[in-house]
This record gives sequence, C-alpha cells and structure tokens, in this order.
Amino acid sequence: MKKQNQNKIILGLTGGFGSGKTTVAKMFRGLGAEIVDADKLAHNCIKKGSGVYQKIIAIFGKGVLQSDKKIDRRKLAGLVFNNRSMLKKLNNIIHPEVIRMIKESILLSRAKVVVLDAPLLIEAGLCDIVDKIIVVIVSRHKQVERVFKKTKIKREEILKRIRCQMPLSKKARLADFVIDNNGDLKDTKSQVKQIWRRMWKS
Ligand code: ATP
Repeated sequence: MKKQNQNKIILGLTGGFGSGKTTVAKMFRGLGAEIVDADKLAHNCIKKGSGVYQKIIAIFGKGVLQSDKKIDRRKLAGLVFNNRSMLKKLNNIIHPEVIRMIKESILLSRAKVVVLDAPLLIEAGLCDIVDKIIVVIVSRHKQVERVFKKTKIKREEILKRIRCQMPLSKKARLADFVIDNNGDLKDTKSQVKQIWRRMWKS
C-alpha cells in the first residue's frame, strides 16, 4: 500500500471520456465511500478572479470568456482539443492547483474510503497518492454513443477528445482493478461490490 493517510483507503478511479467514472463513483458512494471529484475541483479553480482564471486569459485571450466574464468551458475545450500544445499549456496551468485541492480534500475527509474520481489520474502523476488504481473500461463504440447521448457533442468531436487521451487499454494495464462497463448498470454494480469486498482483504 502506498498509503499517505494511514487511517483511510484512497481509491483512484480513472478511465476515458464517458467510460463511466461518475457512475461507478456513485456506486462506491452507495457503499459508504466519499467522492473527491477532480473535474469539479478543476471547474472551481477556473472561477472568475482566481489565479488560474487570470493565467488562462493571459494565454488564451478574452475570446474564451462568456458575456458574464466567466470562462466558457466549451470554447476552451474547442480550442485545446484541436491543438495538443494548447492542451498541454492548459493542463500545466490547471493541474498544480487541482492537485493541491485534491490532496487537501483527501486530508480533510473523515471517510474510511475516499474515491478520487480523476480522468487524468495517471497522466497527472497522481498514482502515488492512491492505494489502489481502478480503471473503468468500455468499448470505443459504447463510449462515443453514451457521451453523445449525454452531451450531444458531435461524434467526430468526441473521437477527437478520446484520441487526446491515453488509450484505455494502456490505463487498464496499470490498474489494480478493472471495471468492465460494457454491460448494464447491474453488472457494473456487482463488479463494484466485488472490489469493495476484496479491498478490505488486501
Ligand atoms: P466524463 O468523462 O464526461 O466525466 P464519465 O466517465 O464520468 O464521463 P459517466 O458520466 O458515468 O462517465 O457515463 C457516461 C454516460 O453513460 C452517462 O450518461 C451514464 O449515465 C451512462 N452510463 C454509464 N454507465 C452505463 C451503463 N453501464 N449502461 C448504460 N449507460 C451507462
């Protein structure tokens, strides 16, 4: 165990765009875990007036702002997912702050099990702060269809974003547990319960 928090188990939950991380995280919450949601923290850290907000405007310009001066996340995503060096720049601005917030949230949590839902867990070098890595996998076809149904983002745009990410198969090789989310929710829930039981034994 790589435990930094001796009295808690930290599960790092990751996967691809729309592979089912949030769905799985909620299942763990149903069993008693607390969720730390890296995406939510990232949204918080780009709030109007924050240091990260200022840095984003300095690099990407005021064109990424909505009329109320908040950052338009769709516009920003449109820019960076068409340009890998821009994506890298954005990640370099956001990641350090999000990592700081994640560590703080874990430290402050009173739960016995914390699930860190972080799409970029591996890429951002966060494996060291978790005890177990769980990767949610799904076929490319289901991934695209589920994201399309949820967001209505064009399929070619979804594929572009998926291609910017580390392949799911590569992530799965680094996992302590893999959850196959190709089936129905009942099937996924039973895998979550199995991990929950095994986790206490290891
Ligand atoms: P994101 O990368 O956008 O944060 P995510 O990995 O958290 O996405 P979810 O939001 O959990 O993925 O799932 C994507 C969509 O697929 C959601 O609308 C969810 O309800 C649906 N979904 C997830 N798992 C299943 C399943 N096993 N069967 C049917 N629909 C599912």
